Amino acid sequence: MATVNLVEIFSSVQGEGLHVGASTLFLRFGGCDLRCGWCDSPHTWNPAGQCRLEQTPGSAVFRSVANPVPLEAAVAAAEALGLVRHRFASLTGGEPLLQPEAVRTLGEALRARGPLLHLETHGIAAEALETVIDVVDVVSMDWKLGSDVRRKGRRARRVDESFHDEHERFLRVAKRAPQVVVKVVVSPSSREEELDEMARRVAGVDPNLPVVIQPVTPFGSVAATPGAQQLLGWTARLQAELHDVRLIPQTHKLLGAL
Ligand code: SF4
Repeated sequence: MATVNLVEIFSSVQGEGLHVGASTLFLRFGGCDLRCGWCDSPHTWNPAGQCRLEQTPGSAVFRSVANPVPLEAAVAAAEALGLVRHRFASLTGGEPLLQPEAVRTLGEALRARGPLLHLETHGIAAEALETVIDVVDVVSMDWKLGSDVRRKGRRARRVDESFHDEHERFLRVAKRAPQVVVKVVVSPSSREEELDEMARRVAGVDPNLPVVIQPVTPFGSVAATPGAQQLLGWTARLQAELHDVRLIPQTHKLLGAL
C-alpha cells in the first residue's frame, strides 16, 4: 500500500505569497534536506512519528495517527475537512519533493476533487519535480540565499554557499506548470549581490515571472526583520530586472493562524 510521511493536515487560508488569503487545505510533509536559519517549522526537518489530522476546518483541534499514512487515508482526511470547498490543496513541508511518488498520487487525487494543486517547495529538487510537474497547477518555489541557508549535514553556514544553479534548473522545469511563483525570504543578513544574482537568473528564464520578496518573520537564529527602507530598496533593485516584483509579509503570523 502506498504511504506518505506527513506532519499534519489542516484547513486555513494561504498566509504568504501570490495567493495570500485564498482558502487552502494544507498537507504538510515530514522531512527536509535544507536548514534555513529562520525556519519556523524545525519539527518538520525529520520524518514525523505521528501525523496530526484537524477535526473540523479551522478548529486547530487535532487527533493523531501513526506514520506512514496510507495515501487513501490522507485523501479521506482532506475530504473530511471539506476539500472541495477550498480553492487550493497545498502540499507543503518540510519538503514534499523528497517524496515525489506521494506528491504525484496525492496531487492527482486532490485536484480531481476540485481544488487547484499548489506545491510549496524549497526549489532545488529538479529531478523530482520532473516526475510530478504535470499534476501541479501552481509551483511556489523558494529561492534560497546562502547567507541564511545551509544544506543538512553542513555544520556551519558557509558564506559561499550557493543555490543559484539548482534554482535556475528547477525554475526551467517549474515553468511547465500553469503558474510558477518565485519567493525569496530576506533577512538583515541578505546581501545585495545574492539578490542581484537571483534577479539575473530569473530574468534569464522569464522576466515576467512573479517574484515575491518576503521579509523574514523573526524565528530561530534570526532575531529581526529588515527595515522598510531596506525592503523598498531591494524591491526597486529587483524591479530593474524583473517586471512583477511584490513585497508581501507572512499574514498568518499576524492573524495567529496555522
Ligand atoms: S526548506 Fe522549508 S522546511 Fe526546510 S529548513 Fe527551509 S524553511 Fe524549513
